[in-house]
Parts: sequence; C-alpha cells; structure tokens
Amino acid sequence: MVTTEEIRRNLDIVRENLASAAAASGRKLDEIALMGVSKFQPAESILTAFGCGLRLFGENRVQERESKSASLVGIRAEWHMIGTLQRNKARKALALFDCIQSVNDAALAAYLDRIIAESPEETKFARPYPIMVEVNVSGEEMKQGVTPEKCFALIDNIAVKCPHVEIHGLMTIGPLSDDEKKIRDSFRTLRELKEGANERFGFAMRHLSMGMSGDYAAAIGEGSTIVRIGTAIFGTRNKQF
Ligand SMILES: *Cc1c(COP(=O)(O)O)cnc(C)c1O
Repeated sequence: MVTTEEIRRNLDIVRENLASAAAASGRKLDEIALMGVSKFQPAESILTAFGCGLRLFGENRVQERESKSASLVGIRAEWHMIGTLQRNKARKALALFDCIQSVNDAALAAYLDRIIAESPEETKFARPYPIMVEVNVSGEEMKQGVTPEKCFALIDNIAVKCPHVEIHGLMTIGPLSDDEKKIRDSFRTLRELKEGANERFGFAMRHLSMGMSGDYAAAIGEGSTIVRIGTAIFGTRNKQF
C-alpha cells in the first residue's frame, strides 16, 4: 500500500501536470475537475486525498462504494459512478452516488428514471438526477458504451423519455494504445459528439469526462472537463480488495 506521503506527492505532481496541460491549451484550470478514482483502494487512501483537498471521487462498483461508506462518514465530497451498472444495483447507486457517468443504453436510463419518479420526495438525490452517457469511441470490444453512430439517438431518447434525469455530458475511456494521435483523435471525437448534440438538440451538456492516468494531458488538450485519475494518485490497485 502506498503511504500518505506518497499520495500527497502524487497529488502534487498530478495537479502540476494538470496546470501545465491547461496552460498549454489555453484553458482555465478551474474548468477542469480532478477526480480521484479510488476503486480497489482502501478508505484510508481516500481520506488522505480528501485531506489534500480532493473533493471528487469515482468508483466502479456499487458494492465497493457501499463497503467504504462507514469509514467515510463526515467526508463531504462528490461521488460519481464510473463502472458498468447492473439493473439490480440501480437503486443503491442512486443513493450512493451524485452522478452516474456510465449510462450506455436507453433501458438503463428509463429504469433509473422510473426509480427516481417513484421515490418519495424526501429521498436525498438531486432531481433531475445527473447522468452522463458513456461512449465507446475506440470501438474496442472490451469497452462499454454506446457507439458514436448511435450516440445522438440515445441522447435524444433519454431527453424525451426520461424527465427525471439530466444528461450533464459524455464520458469515454481512451483507446488502449501508445499512439498519441489515435488517443487525441478519440478524445476529439467525444468533444465533437458533445458539441454536435448540443447544437442539434439545443442541449447545454457541459461535461466531457475523459482522460486517465496515462492520457489526461491529451484529454485536456481536447477539452476534458473531468479527468479520472486512479493509479497516478493512489498507486497500483490492490486487486483483492
Ligand atoms: C480505473 C478507471 C479509471 C482510472 O484509471 P487509471 O489508469 O488508474 O487512472 C478511470 N476511469 C474509469 C472508467 C476506470 O475504470
């Protein structure tokens, strides 16, 4: 496990890199949120990062987020779900997360919409509830997400049929590649999809959630507003979490 000191130092480095990448592309630093991806990381590491001012965290699995809850009471941070969401965990996900970034089909969106509609007024989540649409830009088979071709149709479908959710933006995972151009192209495509959908449907989607430990500088160059950083902050993941 990485030490508190290492997490501090890692965060300093990531923040410096973020600032340089923003400066290099003439962007304001305050329009780019830094998310700490804490999957397979212990609650103590999250507390350390929180102590260093990190206020946005991402987890992939509902159960894992839930299991850390008891250790994180008193932490006022924003939590986003960034992994595949199974139908039977949807209700719990809405209660545990402030945003679900990994919505990739109309049926899931409709299901979330119905749960929200049927939840009592006092249920704590935001209404409309923030979601993002995950797009599989690279077309890699292992990846979740709607294809770029079907992205507009999905967004339109959700906007028309799901009044209790609100699409705040698009999310993608960059291609598994060392090819800098391929990576940039992929992030550019996501930006163009967001701009295209906003224009075509009169939406005001603001967010592009893209860029991880290995490719966040490129993502910032293409307009990322949320970079999701795991290993570069928390070190190698402990798989048997
Ligand atoms: C694990 C994960 C990340 C963070 O990956 P790192 O390479 O460790 O920064 C970001 N986004 C998603 C969706 C993930 O599953």
